[in-house]
Amino acid sequence: MIIPNVNALSDEQLKEVTEIVTAFGCKVKVIRGQERHVYAIIGDERDDDMVTKLEGLPYIDRVDRIQSPHKLMDIRSSLSTHKVKLGGVTLGEEPFFCAGPCTIDPKNPNLTIETAHAVKEAGAHVLRGGVWKPRTNPYSYQGDTKALLILMEASRQTGLPVDTEVMDEEHLHLAVESGVNCLQIGARNALNYALLRQVGHAISGRDTCVLLKRSIHMGPVQEFISAAEYIVQLGNPNVILCPRGTQPALDGYRNHPDESIIPLVKERTWAPVIVDPCHAVGKASYVPAAALAAIAYGADGLCIECNIHPNKGIGDDPKQAVAPEVLRRIISQTRELWRIRRGVPGRD
Ligand code: PEP
Ligand code: MN
Repeated sequence: MIIPNVNALSDEQLKEVTEIVTAFGCKVKVIRGQERHVYAIIGDERDDDMVTKLEGLPYIDRVDRIQSPHKLMDIRSSLSTHKVKLGGVTLGEEPFFCAGPCTIDPKNPNLTIETAHAVKEAGAHVLRGGVWKPRTNPYSYQGDTKALLILMEASRQTGLPVDTEVMDEEHLHLAVESGVNCLQIGARNALNYALLRQVGHAISGRDTCVLLKRSIHMGPVQEFISAAEYIVQLGNPNVILCPRGTQPALDGYRNHPDESIIPLVKERTWAPVIVDPCHAVGKASYVPAAALAAIAYGADGLCIECNIHPNKGIGDDPKQAVAPEVLRRIISQTRELWRIRRGVPGRD
């Protein structure tokens, strides 16, 4: 990775850098951080002659040759000062909350719209809502593009940015063109490297964020972080990691809650981590404890399924969505626990 001593290379400087790396059979990719850009060398960056030439340029500070399978996501990467911003929050600086229904019912737009107002009122920064749904049963409701209009209307009315899951290229382009602020990659697709690359391409040069769920089948921490690297290497570093429970399930829970992975993730990457306790435990009454456990483990925030009438919702809501008053309580207790954990003096 090339680190300039300026915030971004000029066109001329980039051309000079590109000529050098091309001569060694490599390519250069701009990674646009909030404050400064870094330049990834795609290809074998171990060639000493190439590095010497690059480091000889007056506007280059250094060339990092981190030996890591996820060199951009690595805690030692120059991107480690990058801050992901979403919903008016700089992740890591204060607790972040994304909430809303599992699935948007296109036949009942008011349920989503009213829920959107309720989650905003409860303190959420981002509205989540599934337009297209990955369902185990092929005969269950699969989602409907009409729901995207409802999600965007809810965003317009509340002013909340929105998060929705994309599963293929068509969803991806529809979501990006509609102005979805955060693309969710679900637990089933977190290992779909072709999709991860398509997402990386689609958001390159935009401020769109990605909420990357941990796959149900992911084992090593490195596997999770490398999935994020697939996206970030294409130019946009706004990735948020989201543990949400793995298989096999803990007896009685929907999955095996995996918030305890957070300290391990944070030792290896700079990326913010928010936890989805709903899919981990799968039952609304277990969600508050799982949410607070995640914060105790160092989560930067939470993604919670919430519905004003969970029983009228579709998808997971009847089982695992919390009511807005429960969300409000989780948010307030999270803020308290955050202060204790991070030693920040009391505010509100
Ligand atoms: C969801 O967020 O509704 C969802 C399907 O998530 P996951 O991919 O974690 O199962
Ligand atoms: Mn769900």
